[in-house]
Amino acid sequence: MNGGWLIDLLELFYPRYCAVCDERLLTGEEFLCLKCALQMPKIPYDVLRERLYGRIPVDTVASWFEFKRGSPYRKLIHAFKYHGQKELAQNLGRRFGYELKRAGILTDAGMLCPVPLFPAKERKRGYNQSHQLAVGLSAALEIPVEHENLVRTGNTSTQTKLNRFERWENVRNQFCVVKPELFAGKHLILVDDVLTTGATVEACANAILNCCTVKLSVLTIAAVM
Ligand SMILES: [Zn+2]
Repeated sequence: MNGGWLIDLLELFYPRYCAVCDERLLTGEEFLCLKCALQMPKIPYDVLRERLYGRIPVDTVASWFEFKRGSPYRKLIHAFKYHGQKELAQNLGRRFGYELKRAGILTDAGMLCPVPLFPAKERKRGYNQSHQLAVGLSAALEIPVEHENLVRTGNTSTQTKLNRFERWENVRNQFCVVKPELFAGKHLILVDDVLTTGATVEACANAILNCCTVKLSVLTIAAVM
């Protein structure tokens, strides 16, 4: 039996809306309408590498779209970070993953490693958004996610109001690797939600590189440009 009528009926009673422009979604559209998906302010590959230059050795650094003041696309980040939409994070990760795959980027990567949250923060939110992004990336890139080997310890405090030096002081010793042998020898992709100064991924990379030899790349769903 064709279930199309049921979908139409469900959408009549439970309309879904675009997470960027708030217009009603059509059948087949998920989270984003076609127009917002096509107009996404994407970041060209390899313009972000210099942000980490001289700080950590990285193979590839890529983000999907620009995180700009006043841009409606910021709502995507807020939706999965503060409004519980973890399926949106997975969906965005998957879309970004397919684009990377089509572009032939990161074809030799062996493992995805989300940046961990403080345990208390993860309990409060119910999930780690970077882990959810990694789950989506994993489905598209067909590589596994390891989300328990890099852990975060220390005090919870927000990074938002700190300058670059203060951010670094705040995060430099927060991460550690439980079993170095799980990472050793792999091309590892660190996954985070938004790339700002790069202090968080730098601290993660240092914790990893201090205990094992890996090739490192960084993927974030958005970046402040
Ligand atoms: Zn839209």
